[in-house]
Amino acid sequence: MSKLYIVPTPIGNLEDITLRSIRTLKETELIFAEDTRVTKKLLSHLDIQKPVHPFHAHNEHKSLNSAIDKIKANSHTVLVSDAGTPGISDPGFLLIRECITKGIDIECLPGPAAVIPAIVGSGFPCDRFVFEGFLPHKKGRQTRLLAIAEEVRTTVLYESPHRLVKCLGQIEEFMGKDRQICVARELTKLYEEFRRGSASEVKAYYEAHPPKGEIVIIIEGVQTKKVKNEKTV
Ligand code: SAM
Repeated sequence: MSKLYIVPTPIGNLEDITLRSIRTLKETELIFAEDTRVTKKLLSHLDIQKPVHPFHAHNEHKSLNSAIDKIKANSHTVLVSDAGTPGISDPGFLLIRECITKGIDIECLPGPAAVIPAIVGSGFPCDRFVFEGFLPHKKGRQTRLLAIAEEVRTTVLYESPHRLVKCLGQIEEFMGKDRQICVARELTKLYEEFRRGSASEVKAYYEAHPPKGEIVIIIEGVQTKKVKNEKTV
């Protein structure tokens, strides 16, 4: 019986891999990796030697059939991405869906994903939230920003450091300068930072201090009570 194990890997701090993930990597016959060099470094740190095959974003559609053949030829295969949980803004979803369609068992291990420490550390409500991943760069971006502007739940976005200030400018434009936001940068790493404040305050900070590293933006939901009060004034 063949099985695909989805194994999350650290998003910065190598101590953040679970005992179960390490055991699963040790027991596997084959590992599919987004970037084989990144995964080989992690495996070498864990002193694990296993065959690692590429399964990255550019070939996810094309390599589905050959990946399924390899999974069927083994009893135990692992899927990892460069960091965090496969499928979360990373390759994985298509392969997982294809396994389910083909009747191949999957087992999804819990573990690191930047979205979780980011929203919890933001201090905004996290009982319900919307994860938008990366916003599209061009087509559809404005539609998403308009939807987030009306969203009552907390919204989480992934963003690159060189696009951060532009994105904060659009948050200010679409949601108002006073919308409360938080930028979570370099989570689990040495220079981890949470910067909280209004959209204009946080934007001004990063204009003065151009950011490096990996970034999550958390946007507080629209305050419906306030909107009603403002309208009635
Ligand atoms: N699969 C990953 C996960 O589970 O979070 C996400 C991979 S996606 C290609 C990379 C993006 O995730 C980064 O651009 C950033 O937005 C976010 N990210 C990943 N690691 C992070 C970290 N240590 N601190 C802040 N954001 C991070």
